[in-house]
Amino acid sequence: MKDQSALGFPAPAIGALLLGLAVVTCTAPRTGATDAARRGTLRRFEFSLARMGTTFNIVLYHTEEEAASKAAMAAFSRVERLEAIFSDFREDSENLRLCRLGAGMPRAVSPELYFVLENSLKFSQLSGGAFDVTIGPVVQVWREARRAGKAPDPGRLAEAKKSTGVENIILDGEQRTVQLLLPRMRLDFGGIAKGYAADEALRVLKSRGIRMALVDAGGDISIGSAPPGQAGWRIEVRNGLEARGERVSMVLHDLGVATSGDSFQFLESGGARYSHIIDPASAVALKNSPGVTVVARDAITADALATALSVTPVEQGMSVVESVDGASAAIVSRGEKGAEWRVSRGFPLIQRQREELRTAGPQRANHN
Ligand code: ADP
Ligand code: MG
Repeated sequence: MKDQSALGFPAPAIGALLLGLAVVTCTAPRTGATDAARRGTLRRFEFSLARMGTTFNIVLYHTEEEAASKAAMAAFSRVERLEAIFSDFREDSENLRLCRLGAGMPRAVSPELYFVLENSLKFSQLSGGAFDVTIGPVVQVWREARRAGKAPDPGRLAEAKKSTGVENIILDGEQRTVQLLLPRMRLDFGGIAKGYAADEALRVLKSRGIRMALVDAGGDISIGSAPPGQAGWRIEVRNGLEARGERVSMVLHDLGVATSGDSFQFLESGGARYSHIIDPASAVALKNSPGVTVVARDAITADALATALSVTPVEQGMSVVESVDGASAAIVSRGEKGAEWRVSRGFPLIQRQREELRTAGPQRANHN
């Protein structure tokens, strides 16, 4: 799991709407609503929905509450559709159905699954195999280990690893088919699907004329145009430096940003702290994984690269991110001498400052 975000200016809740079985909450200033709409004043609205194992938060500016709500509902419907495609927990997801069909014939898939799989293979190649969408069987073994509270049996890991490897997927763009070559393969989109869903939700808002908006999928954030009168959205990153009292924030617009780290999902066993990110080369979960923040043209890129750069050595990660147009990264690695901070060329850091250490709850990213 990744940085969940708290919205900076909590406003009074004005109601809960039901969308399917999901509770969607909308918060917006209540007073003067009609006046504001009449005058054409932009107001800030916030909506949230629990999906894909995290909370999606939408912040947008609009003159009218009804249009704002309708747009957010449409964006959330898109997220629900994507969850039904990519979920690794829902047995009826398109992903798990495809994997159950097993090795053999090429199978036709949805445009969304094809697009994200094609991107996954691209990021795999770019990162020298650090990003690996076929890591599913190994992830399953580590998930069980996390539940049991002890590191997995090496024999089981080795067995699971036999069913991985991106070279065992064949894509056909013309027919839009996917062919899995090995038995027991399992695709895991956990490192990329939330970024894609954030981009898609923002695209739905834009299709309704709403550009001043931000969609945060628990730390994978798709950012639209700047809020009224501002240079951008202030994004505060919690990447490990906060533990020593430092705050990192950026002001961004029309970009994606993602942070990977093990602050909230990890296994402690035999004195080691294992992350939920796995090194595909060894099938072993990362120990002392770094806090990686990636800024990119879109959130799908930021999400996948943040996962990949958690695996690669820092130097390699820096050259991977610099090879992607418009992408940059900040990596906080935990060495023997404590946290070490490195940024790639072009990282849009505007502020890094010491603050009083607070013992506040798990608020890790902040926008505006
Ligand atoms: P978060 O889920 O917190 O947003 P990431 O984006 O880094 O964090 O994704 C981590 C998830 O990606 C894991 O829970 C797992 O499902 C999957 N995963 C683990 N290791 C890899 C890897 N090497 N390449 C691609 N996906 C991975
Ligand atoms: Mg990721």
